[in-house]
Parts: sequence; structure tokens; C-alpha cells
Amino acid sequence: MAIRIDGKLVSSKIREEVKGEVSKLTDKGIKPALAVILVGNDPASAVYVRNKQKACLETGIEPHQITLPEETEERELLDIIDKLNRDDDIHGILVQLPLPKHISSERVIEAISPKKDVDAFSHDSVGRIMEGKYSFLPCTPAGVMELLAHYNVEVEGKECVVIGRSNIVGKPMAMLLLNKSATVTICHSKTKNLPEVCKRADIIVCAVGKAEFLTADMVKPGAVVIDVGINRNSEGKLVGDVKFDEVEPIASMITPVPGGVGPMTIAMLLKNTVTSAKGT
Ligand code: NDP
Repeated sequence: MAIRIDGKLVSSKIREEVKGEVSKLTDKGIKPALAVILVGNDPASAVYVRNKQKACLETGIEPHQITLPEETEERELLDIIDKLNRDDDIHGILVQLPLPKHISSERVIEAISPKKDVDAFSHDSVGRIMEGKYSFLPCTPAGVMELLAHYNVEVEGKECVVIGRSNIVGKPMAMLLLNKSATVTICHSKTKNLPEVCKRADIIVCAVGKAEFLTADMVKPGAVVIDVGINRNSEGKLVGDVKFDEVEPIASMITPVPGGVGPMTIAMLLKNTVTSAKGT
């Protein structure tokens, strides 16, 4: 039976570290602050923003929340970001996605100063990740790397399969594994013989967005299985991209959903904010 990778435990350790760093910075007169911008009325986004705000408060980071109506003009949002870029008391800027359709996410993300891009979604941040010379890593893939490190999973020289090639999870995930000298295969909806490719993997990261997609026949016995997915199944229960009950008996380690990768994402956001504040 696989060891269950405990994301709650590892994330609470990171939050404690963040708290310590915040306290040291505060003693030096620097109060780490994160601006979170929410545009519109998407209920899921509102929950994510509330959770980020709560996590900031718990670690002593000052949350600076800006809530804007759905009909906000792109120009207005860009002006707000410009002001936040120039505000020395703000160390991180995050724009909650998705944005309303009339606003270009790309233009908005590109407007955030690379020094404050704690989500690491901008072209500058992505380029730095490619070169392995980054200040910030995107929170979810960075959280996965923290979990692997915490559980002493050797990455160097390992066959890693990442399922999913989104800009926010799959691609940066593959790059971080590559930066640690893994042999990485990225799979997507056009991949042929996916079960066979997956079965080669010593480490599988599944970021597909389909409930219980990865089944036992796709997993090599002893593989480490990381489940990034957050889905609701037909009964409304929260499940990952991995068929947990089937895969757990054959994997060597596995992340549950909930309680695996999920809690790591916000913890890494807090860590990025403190990293930015340290640089001021
Ligand atoms: P996207 O929908 O942007 O990407 C999904 C990827 O999966 C695509 O690259 C797609 O391929 C691939 N895919 C879809 N169907 C198949 C298939 N049948 N076979 C192989 N590949 C397939 O999702 P995200 O990357 O944004 O998110 C993935 C999951 O992770 C979601 O469940 C999301 O909720 C979750 N998530 C969790 C976070 C956390 O904090 N834990 C944070 C972010 C996301 P193609 O490119 O060819 O279409």
C-alpha cells in the first residue's frame, strides 16, 4: 500500500516558515503585503480569493484586496496594476483568473511587474523558469516539487510523465522536473498509447481535469503518483484525476484529493510573497 503524501502537513510546515520570515521582516520595518484583485462575480473565484486572504492573515502577510465589478474596463484594471507596481508597500500582485471575457488576461498578466508576479504566469517569469533562473515559481508545480522533496523522492534520472500541458500546471511542471534532471514526457489529449507511456513512469503527475482519469492499468507498480486534479464526480464528491482506490495499492506514494497538492498551492503563494518582500 502506498504512502499517502500529506499536503496538509507539508503546507502547514511551509506556512510556519513563512510566519517566521514575516515576523523577521516586520521587525526590520517591512510588512509583506499581497494585493489580490478580483473582477466580477464568479463564485468559485470569490472562494479562492477568500482563502488566499485568510491564509495571508494567518501568516501575518497583509492582504490588500481589490474587488471590482464585472463591467470594469481593461484600462481601469491596468491603471490599478500600474499603481500597485509603483507602490513600495505591495510585494505581490495576483489577479484572480478567469477574468471577464472583455478583458485580455494576457495583457493584464503582462502588466504586472516581474518583481511582483507571485503567480509567475507572465512571459518574463515563464522564460526564467525555462532557463532555471527564477525568482518565483508557479504555485501548483512548485508545491508538487516541495512535496517530492519533503518525502525524499529522488527526481534526478527518473522517468517522469506529466499528463496535461496547460501553461499554469503541465508545462511548468515538466520544466521543474527537467531542471532537476528528470527524463520528462509530457502527455496531452493527442498522445497515442497513453497507458503505455504512463506505465514507463517512475513519477506521474496527473493534471488533466477529468475525474478519476488515471487508472491502475496505467501505473507501474512502485511509481510515485501526484494528483493535481480537482473535480466533482457524479455524486458531487471532490475527487482527483486519479482513481485513488485502484492506484493506491500499487503505487509507492500517492497524493490524496483533497489534502494532497491542493493545500500546497496557497502555501507557495505565501512563500513567493515573502521572497518578494525580502528583495525590497
Ligand atoms: P487544463 O484544462 O488547462 O488542461 C488539461 C490538460 O489535460 C490539457 O493539456 C489537455 O490536453 C489534457 N487532457 C485532457 N484530456 C486528456 C486526455 N483524454 N488524455 C490526455 N490528456 C488530456 O487544466 P489545468 O492544467 O488548468 O488543470 C488540471 C487539473 O488541475 C484540473 O482538475 C484543475 O482543477 C486542477 N488544478 C488544481 C490546482 C491545485 O491547486 N491543486 C491548481 C490548478 C489546477 P490538450 O492540451 O491536448 O487539450
